[in-house]
Amino acid sequence: MSKRLVILGAGESGVGAAILGKQEQFDVFVSDRGRIATKYKDLLLEENIAFEEGCHSEEKILTADLVVKSPGIPDRTPLVEKLRNQDVSVISEIEFGSWFTQAKLIGITGSNGKTTTTSLVYHILKSAGYNVGIAGNIGDSFALQVAKSDYEYYVLELSSFQLDGIVDLKLDISILLNITTDHLDRYNNNLSEYIDAKFQLIKNVDQYSVFFYNSDDHNIVTKLHKTERPHLSYAFSINGALENGIGLESNEIIIDINKAMRISVDRIPLKGKHNAYNIMASVSVASVLGVDKHDIMVALASFQPIEHRMEQVVVLNGVEYINDSKATNVDSVFYALESITNKIIWIAGGVDKGNDYSQLLPLVKSKVHGMVCLGKDNSKLHEVFGDIVHQITDARSAYEAVQKSSAMAEEGFTVLLSPACASFDLFENYEDRGKKFKHEIYKLNAKFK
Ligand code: ADP
Repeated sequence: MSKRLVILGAGESGVGAAILGKQEQFDVFVSDRGRIATKYKDLLLEENIAFEEGCHSEEKILTADLVVKSPGIPDRTPLVEKLRNQDVSVISEIEFGSWFTQAKLIGITGSNGKTTTTSLVYHILKSAGYNVGIAGNIGDSFALQVAKSDYEYYVLELSSFQLDGIVDLKLDISILLNITTDHLDRYNNNLSEYIDAKFQLIKNVDQYSVFFYNSDDHNIVTKLHKTERPHLSYAFSINGALENGIGLESNEIIIDINKAMRISVDRIPLKGKHNAYNIMASVSVASVLGVDKHDIMVALASFQPIEHRMEQVVVLNGVEYINDSKATNVDSVFYALESITNKIIWIAGGVDKGNDYSQLLPLVKSKVHGMVCLGKDNSKLHEVFGDIVHQITDARSAYEAVQKSSAMAEEGFTVLLSPACASFDLFENYEDRGKKFKHEIYKLNAKFK
């Protein structure tokens, strides 16, 4: 008899897992407590997969032999606890997908930089001719690609929620970019639980697995002192060359693994220290996979920055506008402010996840000339920054934020949307916030043409 596979959550990953499950002869049932998007409902109907929406029927779910849970559903949900108490294994879609592929898996995690680095690794490998897929939070789900494609490599963006659901998944190459406070609400406000989740990345390594980690990151280094690290572990740092590791020295990445390689970062369209880490990590992966220097250089030069991440929108009347809407925590804003040399009009705010802004104070004092607070409740921003910026004001829409920031900006200034906060008080999500911001700038631009 077929095993019963229950999928909780019918989004991209859930529906992908359902399709793969069906292909692998499971008896599949999909359950979503909310409404299922038409696109996914159509797919389930097309594949003849049973599903329900608007509820979780326990009698249909508790009969599962195996459950694949969407990363959006917390572990502490009573239904998930009930399943675990019945010894039903509850895994992530990434874990499930990995059971049915022989491809080499490259996994990338960190509090910030996952999407950028995953895209960059993929871009380098693809342009060097590798048969490679990209998955995680990007594009089609991993499980769907395992079902429908025959890639030899996958580059996977792994959030801590996805890592939580790992059982046997073994990554051939893994990158740990950084660990700063984010999403702590999902980890009992306990940093060490969050760090443990990130270290699931190297849970199942063997003697051939390669692990790259940021040795400038205090949380990573402290944890590594207490952890058995993989045999093939390599540190990367922006503070000079590293023996048997990867370092940055005078705008050159120096890779000292097996055979040495030097790569200049001058012509790469990704700027800022944060991107230096992302580039170092990506280039290291390419280098251990045998991509040669010329191919790496060609790929780096043609990489396009990703939307909503330090994306230059336009320069208008001598003022540069940057959309960094994806900066939803303090650390990413730190790197944004640091990478800009102009005076800044900073648009920040939204839903504060318990932010501690103290690490931003010196940068704000020296670089931020004016602030526009874009949130329903801006009181904390006024409290922290009110006395140290020349002008501070509020906005309740992208239109107002652009009007007010452009009025404050003088020639040679940068207007930066880098909110440090989630967006759902005024917007649907960070993409919606970034798109509306850009739309208002384009409108302004059209007026001056
Ligand atoms: P993630 O997928 O982890 O959220 P993104 O690549 O989407 O990361 O970038 C999110 C935000 O973090 C953007 O504002 C980006 O400019 C910033 N960022 C990118 N890489 C790093 C890094 N290595 N360290 C800190 N901030 C970063």
